Amino acid sequence: ASFWPLASTSTQEKLLGGLLVPGFDERSCLSRYRSAFYRKNMARSPSAHLVKRLREHEALQRRCGPGTEAYRAAAARLRSWHGDGDAPGACKYLVLVPYRGLGNNILAMASAFLYAVLTDRVLLLDRTTSLGDIFCEPFPGASWLLPQSFPVRNLQNLTGEVRESYRYLVQGDDAAASVSRRRYVFVDLDHSCTYHDKLFFCDDERRFLRRAPWLLMRTDGYFVPALFLNPAYQEELDRLFPRKDAVFYLLAHYLFHPTNKVWGLITRFHDSYLKNADERLGIQIRVFDGDTPFQHILDQILACTSQEHLLPDVVTQEPPRPPAAGTRSKAVLMTGLSSWYYENVRWKYWQSATATGEAVSVYQPSHEEHQLSGYTTHDMKALAEMYLLGMTDRIVTSGWSTFGYVGHGLGGLTPWVMFRPENHTAPSPPCRRAKSMEPCMHGPPFYDCRAKQGADTGKLVPHVQHCEDMSWGLKLV
Ligand code: GDP
Repeated sequence: ASFWPLASTSTQEKLLGGLLVPGFDERSCLSRYRSAFYRKNMARSPSAHLVKRLREHEALQRRCGPGTEAYRAAAARLRSWHGDGDAPGACKYLVLVPYRGLGNNILAMASAFLYAVLTDRVLLLDRTTSLGDIFCEPFPGASWLLPQSFPVRNLQNLTGEVRESYRYLVQGDDAAASVSRRRYVFVDLDHSCTYHDKLFFCDDERRFLRRAPWLLMRTDGYFVPALFLNPAYQEELDRLFPRKDAVFYLLAHYLFHPTNKVWGLITRFHDSYLKNADERLGIQIRVFDGDTPFQHILDQILACTSQEHLLPDVVTQEPPRPPAAGTRSKAVLMTGLSSWYYENVRWKYWQSATATGEAVSVYQPSHEEHQLSGYTTHDMKALAEMYLLGMTDRIVTSGWSTFGYVGHGLGGLTPWVMFRPENHTAPSPPCRRAKSMEPCMHGPPFYDCRAKQGADTGKLVPHVQHCEDMSWGLKLV
């Protein structure tokens, strides 16, 4: 197998090129320092500037996070708000309210974290989801989970309609002054959000939102490409990410460490079914038209893997070529809510020999049948499967799926994306190699911050382009 033997993994490799700090208790979160053993090498290394900013951010989370005097003071001001304006030098916070599926949550967390780093805000996560059960804490000596006693209740019910909404502030006469008069500012980045909500992406927080100690944000997706279009952050982002195609990859390796239970699911599956194969192919199937099996989607999977030479053809005439000694083995990891596609692909390679003589084994860790949310075991399986997809060598994903984006993004893999079928027919071509390993932003702004007018935001800078799977979406390349 092509994985590094344990002994040769140096401390620098274990710490992912400086992304991670030593000093965490290893046993309480095994994945943190062991994931390097399961990876061939880092697809991209962090820049020295990113490493420096991460260390500074950790210090901020420690100084201002839950349990500190600074947090108590900020929460107390929020609780008994008298419209008393700025508290100079106080810590500033970004509370993220993630929602929808786990893939959506992960992309939202990565994006919010980058925004928090850019704006020196402490990132805290609303804990109505199972995120606290499936991820270890990323920051040393500070929790990123919002305390239960947080004064604003029912965060999941906040919408862009609330009085504190950015949407209204930005339309007011003196937005900067009105920020100071609000308890908090709510930024709604749901994909139903309005033109005015999206002006947030052009906001220079240093002049305006800086005055808001509490920023509450609702988003279910990856908004990093929009940050790259905001002139206020351009210089800093250039220094943080000299290569623009691995922002999610680096942020994800910094932030997301599965808890021991999830890590057990990952490593046992990997060691049993994937490790010893000569090559691993991931196929992620996400169907948005319902949970029943569809022939056209099976056709699409088979057409894609055949046309792109990801899986060998089978021979139909008997007798097949006798397998040579030392046959190459290919392990196929399929993920999806249904097992029907997996059964069919597996049967194809069981029923017939491959033309190349390769041995193809096909596995699917779970088939949950229906999407659920907030159930810890269900989310554990979903996370394990995204992570396992990232441990393959090549990957085919379903367009539009944030689950798939996380799978290939974590693995540093540029996927073959299957286009979303229309009218129940397999599209032609069935799939295409993506331009980069980055996730797609689904609800981008259509506004040029510099020119202050509507624009095709996929044409403003070379490293922000439209996605393969969603023509209006934006991704970093
Ligand atoms: P998206 O809807 O494809 O963008 O991905 P999300 O992860 O946001 O939401 C889909 C949810 O459905 C996941 O979080 C899981 O709860 C479930 N799900 C979808 N596909 C799979 C799969 O292949 N395996 C497992 N275990 N769960 C899945």
